[in-house]
Amino acid sequence: MGKIAINLFDPKSRSYSAKNIHLDNRRFAGFSDTDDLPGQLYMSPGFIDAHAHVYPGASCLGISADLVGLKTGVHLVIDAGSSGSATFDCFRDYVVPTYETAVKAYLNISRIGLVTKQPYTDRRNIDLEAAMRCFRENDRGLLLGIKVMSSGIIVEDSGIMPLQKAVEAADVLGCRIMAHLCEGPPSNEDAMALLRRGDIITHCFHGKPNIAASLNASKVPSIDPAFYALPNIMWNEDGSPAKPLEAALSRGVLLDVGHGAASFDQFIASSAIRAGVREFAISTDAHVRNIVSIVGGLPQTMTKFLALGMTISEVTASVTAIPARQHGLDGWCDDLSKRATIFRLRAPREGDFPLMDSNHASITAREIVEPVAVLTDGAITDIIPGWENG
Ligand SMILES: [Zn+2]
Repeated sequence: MGKIAINLFDPKSRSYSAKNIHLDNRRFAGFSDTDDLPGQLYMSPGFIDAHAHVYPGASCLGISADLVGLKTGVHLVIDAGSSGSATFDCFRDYVVPTYETAVKAYLNISRIGLVTKQPYTDRRNIDLEAAMRCFRENDRGLLLGIKVMSSGIIVEDSGIMPLQKAVEAADVLGCRIMAHLCEGPPSNEDAMALLRRGDIITHCFHGKPNIAASLNASKVPSIDPAFYALPNIMWNEDGSPAKPLEAALSRGVLLDVGHGAASFDQFIASSAIRAGVREFAISTDAHVRNIVSIVGGLPQTMTKFLALGMTISEVTASVTAIPARQHGLDGWCDDLSKRATIFRLRAPREGDFPLMDSNHASITAREIVEPVAVLTDGAITDIIPGWENG
């Protein structure tokens, strides 16, 4: 196989430069300087999908981690709260070991996790003692933090309470929260005010314009109708963060895309990108109801952000260095011989996955991110055989 000229990603400078990669019998044998043109072949630390749902069987949304894992260039899938303290052991012992792709997880603050889409409606399911015990027993293994969902359709009349309880638990545990914010109530403003340094807002480009438009009032009878008229916007029209988000960001709160079936508005994202916002993780929120219809997978989601005006270096950082830092995965980007993704940029073709946002508004890409191989512990596994021949 010999040497191949490639664009190699440097996670520190977040930029690509040309190198030769040497391969010996389909094993990694080092890098060297090159005078050859690397063309459209790229190599980066292993991709991370920082928000997906990979607990089929005991959650209402789950898919196999391998469906969105190594065969799409993704080395690590982070499950965003599919399991709670009552369902986590089964996930750890009987589901995760069946995957070839590495998995880590956030523990839902509800003990039933996503067995249903309304896990907080019975308030007894928010059992802090059980959540904290589960987290302590599994800290530094599978579990990275606490997941809480804080949008009207999910919390129903529980309002801000699940988020308050998640913060209470995370304060005691000294861990981070991944908070799903979308349509209210509770308002995004109230939710963001509770988030602390290192906590993550997922669905950051959800773009739901206001509470009234996105929620059937009859579902939340305990809340005053006047509340529905409140604006619920994270971003100003020019793409800059609105005041409550700006305050959260300056405290060290972090952003995650979490594309999903209802949470990614390309116009909100592109105006934020135009306004200079680049520090967020690109993730899919892949689950059974969006994977084949809207989201596709992480490469398709990366392609969308390229089309919205980010550079390939910025998009790469958003699936490697940025999520690694957000989730405390120290050293993730340090050794490319351990885990790397090789991909190419190519022109769109007929038959490619159709690109759209969660509102089904289409996105036109000039370049498609196409993973061709993964490198795992020194060994190359092809996704598209013959990739090295161009
Ligand atoms: Zn999700």
